[in-house]
Amino acid sequence: MVDCIFCKIINGDIPSYKVYEDEEVLAFLDINPVALGHTLVIPKEHYETVFDAQEESFGKLSAKVAKVAKKINNALDCDGINILQNNGKASGQVIFHVHFHLIPRKEDDGVLTFPNVIGEKVNFEEIAKKISKA
Ligand SMILES: [Zn+2]
Repeated sequence: MVDCIFCKIINGDIPSYKVYEDEEVLAFLDINPVALGHTLVIPKEHYETVFDAQEESFGKLSAKVAKVAKKINNALDCDGINILQNNGKASGQVIFHVHFHLIPRKEDDGVLTFPNVIGEKVNFEEIAKKISKA
Protein backbone atom coordinates (compact mmCIF):
# COMPACT_ATOMS: atom_id res chain seq x y z
CA MET A 1 0.00 0.00 0.00
CA VAL A 2 1.47 3.31 -1.13
CA ASP A 3 1.01 5.44 1.99
CA CYS A 4 1.77 2.74 4.54
CA ILE A 5 4.96 3.28 6.54
CA PHE A 6 5.37 -0.47 7.18
CA CYS A 7 5.00 -1.28 3.48
CA LYS A 8 7.71 1.33 2.83
CA ILE A 9 9.93 -0.43 5.37
CA ILE A 10 9.25 -3.79 3.65
CA ASN A 11 10.14 -2.25 0.30
CA GLY A 12 13.31 -0.69 1.69
CA ASP A 13 12.12 2.87 1.06
CA ILE A 14 12.48 3.54 4.79
CA PRO A 15 15.45 2.02 6.64
CA SER A 16 14.95 -0.29 9.62
CA TYR A 17 16.97 -2.42 12.01
CA LYS A 18 15.96 -5.87 10.76
CA VAL A 19 16.17 -8.82 13.12
CA TYR A 20 14.40 -11.44 10.99
CA GLU A 21 13.07 -11.68 7.45
CA ASP A 22 11.67 -14.37 5.22
CA GLU A 23 9.29 -14.45 2.27
CA GLU A 24 6.21 -13.82 4.45
CA VAL A 25 7.25 -11.65 7.38
CA LEU A 26 9.65 -8.96 8.50
CA ALA A 27 10.76 -8.28 12.08
CA PHE A 28 12.55 -5.07 13.00
CA LEU A 29 13.28 -2.95 16.06
CA ASP A 30 10.57 -0.49 17.08
CA ILE A 31 11.99 3.00 16.60
CA ASN A 32 10.13 4.10 19.75
CA PRO A 33 11.03 1.21 22.06
CA VAL A 34 9.45 0.81 25.49
CA ALA A 35 12.18 -1.70 26.39
CA LEU A 36 15.55 -2.77 25.00
CA GLY A 37 14.90 -5.10 22.07
CA HIS A 38 11.27 -4.02 21.51
CA THR A 39 10.57 -5.63 18.14
CA LEU A 40 7.73 -5.45 15.63
CA VAL A 41 6.73 -8.44 13.51
CA ILE A 42 4.67 -7.66 10.40
CA PRO A 43 3.31 -9.65 7.47
CA LYS A 44 4.64 -8.62 4.06
CA GLU A 45 1.07 -8.74 2.83
CA HIS A 46 -0.71 -5.50 3.74
CA TYR A 47 -3.86 -5.78 5.82
CA GLU A 48 -4.97 -3.40 8.50
CA THR A 49 -6.30 -5.48 11.38
CA VAL A 50 -7.05 -9.03 12.47
CA PHE A 51 -10.57 -8.46 11.15
CA ASP A 52 -9.18 -8.16 7.62
CA ALA A 53 -6.89 -11.18 7.95
CA GLN A 54 -7.25 -14.59 6.39
CA GLU A 55 -7.21 -16.85 9.43
CA GLU A 56 -4.63 -19.16 7.90
CA SER A 57 -2.18 -16.36 7.08
CA PHE A 58 -2.70 -14.85 10.53
CA GLY A 59 -1.85 -18.28 11.96
CA LYS A 60 1.37 -18.36 9.94
CA LEU A 61 2.20 -14.88 11.17
CA SER A 62 1.66 -16.00 14.76
CA ALA A 63 4.06 -18.91 14.23
CA LYS A 64 6.72 -16.44 13.08
CA VAL A 65 6.02 -14.29 16.14
CA ALA A 66 6.90 -17.32 18.29
CA LYS A 67 10.09 -17.82 16.28
CA VAL A 68 11.19 -14.19 16.74
CA ALA A 69 10.23 -14.24 20.44
CA LYS A 70 12.58 -17.21 20.95
CA LYS A 71 15.37 -15.38 19.10
CA ILE A 72 14.89 -12.32 21.32
CA ASN A 73 14.84 -14.45 24.45
CA ASN A 74 18.04 -16.25 23.43
CA ALA A 75 19.82 -13.04 22.49
CA LEU A 76 18.76 -10.80 25.36
CA ASP A 77 18.30 -13.31 28.18
CA CYS A 78 14.83 -12.02 29.04
CA ASP A 79 12.94 -12.81 32.22
CA GLY A 80 9.76 -12.65 30.14
CA ILE A 81 8.23 -11.11 27.05
CA ASN A 82 4.98 -9.32 26.27
CA ILE A 83 3.37 -10.00 22.90
CA LEU A 84 0.82 -7.34 22.04
CA GLN A 85 -1.30 -6.90 18.95
CA ASN A 86 -3.68 -3.94 18.68
CA ASN A 87 -6.63 -3.74 16.30
CA GLY A 88 -8.39 -0.46 15.68
CA LYS A 89 -7.83 3.03 17.00
CA ALA A 90 -9.70 2.31 20.24
CA SER A 91 -7.20 -0.45 21.06
CA GLY A 92 -4.21 1.83 20.59
CA GLN A 93 -3.33 0.84 17.02
CA VAL A 94 -1.42 3.68 15.34
CA ILE A 95 -0.04 2.09 12.15
CA PHE A 96 -2.79 0.37 10.19
CA HIS A 97 -0.74 -2.56 8.91
CA VAL A 98 -1.13 -5.56 11.22
CA HIS A 99 1.79 -5.91 13.61
CA PHE A 100 2.82 -7.63 16.78
CA HIS A 101 4.84 -5.89 19.48
CA LEU A 102 7.39 -8.16 21.18
CA ILE A 103 8.55 -6.46 24.36
CA PRO A 104 11.37 -8.14 26.29
CA ARG A 105 10.93 -7.90 30.04
CA LYS A 106 13.15 -8.04 33.09
CA GLU A 107 11.96 -8.66 36.62
CA ASP A 108 10.70 -5.43 38.20
CA ASP A 109 11.47 -3.31 35.11
CA GLY A 110 8.25 -1.36 35.57
CA VAL A 111 7.79 -1.14 31.79
CA LEU A 112 4.16 -2.14 31.58
CA THR A 113 1.51 -3.12 34.02
CA PHE A 114 -1.46 -5.21 33.04
CA PRO A 115 -4.60 -3.05 33.09
CA ASN A 116 -6.87 -3.24 36.08
CA VAL A 117 -9.80 -5.61 35.77
CA ILE A 118 -13.06 -3.87 35.03
CA GLY A 119 -14.89 -2.95 38.19
CA GLU A 120 -18.43 -3.38 36.98
CA LYS A 121 -20.37 -6.59 37.49
CA VAL A 122 -19.92 -8.79 34.43
CA ASN A 123 -22.54 -11.17 33.03
CA PHE A 124 -20.07 -13.82 31.88
CA GLU A 125 -22.72 -16.20 30.60
CA GLU A 126 -24.33 -13.58 28.37
CA ILE A 127 -21.00 -12.41 26.94
CA ALA A 128 -19.76 -15.95 26.26
CA LYS A 129 -23.03 -16.85 24.49
CA LYS A 130 -22.95 -13.68 22.39
CA ILE A 131 -19.38 -14.32 21.20
CA SER A 132 -19.78 -18.05 20.58
CA LYS A 133 -22.94 -17.48 18.50
CA ALA A 134 -21.43 -14.73 16.34
ZN1 LIG B 1 1.29 -1.77 4.79
